[in-house]
Amino acid sequence: MEDSIGPRLYSCYKCRNHLALHDDIISKGFQSKNGRAYLFTHVRNVFEGPKADRQLITGLHTVADVHCADCREVLGWKYEKAYEESEKYKEGKVVLEKFKIVKENW
Ligand SMILES: [Zn+2]
Repeated sequence: MEDSIGPRLYSCYKCRNHLALHDDIISKGFQSKNGRAYLFTHVRNVFEGPKADRQLITGLHTVADVHCADCREVLGWKYEKAYEESEKYKEGKVVLEKFKIVKENW
């Protein structure tokens, strides 16, 4: 047991607020307009903006911006609802932009 070393996680690039565990990544293959992004099963210490319908390459989705609970920076978005059957697995999941998160305990 290595009690002094916590789990590998990601934090906000601005304020180092802890956001997500490495183990909660579903996919690293997401692409946003700003570059690569990761899909997580869930994230902590964030709040959601208003829901909005967006037509994406993969079809119509209801999404909400995800903000850091400390510095309020927009870090990514949450899939509230997917309308295409093949995209349903994204519902309730959160995408964080790679350049807005930093690794801790690696
Ligand atoms: Zn922050």
